[in-house]
Amino acid sequence: MKRWLPLLIVLVCVGLGLLFNSDRGPRLVVLDVGQGDALYVRTPAGQDLLIDAGPGRQVIAELERELPAGDRTLEAIFATHMDADHIGGFEAVLQEFKVLHVFTNGQQPTTKKGHAFIDAVNTQGIELQELSRGQRLTSTDFTMDVLWPDDSERVSSNEGALVMRLVTAEKSFLLMADAPDSVEKKLIELQTQLRSDVLKVGHHGSKTSTTGALLTAVQPGQAVISAGKNNQYGHPTNEVLDRLTGAGIEVLRTDQQGSITLPFNASPKNWFENIFGST
Ligand SMILES: [Zn+2]
Repeated sequence: MKRWLPLLIVLVCVGLGLLFNSDRGPRLVVLDVGQGDALYVRTPAGQDLLIDAGPGRQVIAELERELPAGDRTLEAIFATHMDADHIGGFEAVLQEFKVLHVFTNGQQPTTKKGHAFIDAVNTQGIELQELSRGQRLTSTDFTMDVLWPDDSERVSSNEGALVMRLVTAEKSFLLMADAPDSVEKKLIELQTQLRSDVLKVGHHGSKTSTTGALLTAVQPGQAVISAGKNNQYGHPTNEVLDRLTGAGIEVLRTDQQGSITLPFNASPKNWFENIFGST
């Protein structure tokens, strides 16, 4: 019995940790914000990231469901590009949460919602940082590589959208924002490391993204599509759904399933830390 006592104590502690800690662990959640994109990431170190904020205020309730109780801080927010279905919710996010870092693709706002977002960043006195290909953000068991835009290609809208690859101890995620086939082609030509376990499908499943060549390069097991129920654009298109299922990839859709949670494990040493929590 004595030999097993230390193990027993550890198991009891782990159990209590799980019971009393509201942190649901490292994960990427494709939030259901209707027609648009908003991705929440809880890193292994307990940071909260938001990549895009959907078209409006609905992101607030989604975030409140995800953040641990009492945590109102987002360590970083990312605007992949200035289209309203991606940045429309940021003004409300900046009003409701404390945001430490703001990253964009370097594009200037072109719409009312875009200007409201940038005004809110300036009002809060947060420095706005532009990301481009080759930059890397790291944290414990978590790396985020910026694959696009290329500095020389800071063009407007979807062609200049931030494409990022998250690498964790267990899984990798390729986040295509609204990047079209021309960007996919350039990423492949530049011999970018694209292979990932999960693909966040580009441009809500529009037929001008997610080419067969991209799927060959990424080889994902799962694909997630963010689109609004019965949206006016016909997203996701049958062409893209056929390409995905034809390649044997499991398809997850916010218009059918609501928010989609994709958990990933930290390495064993951090798994212990995570259970006992950091905020
Ligand atoms: Zn979009």
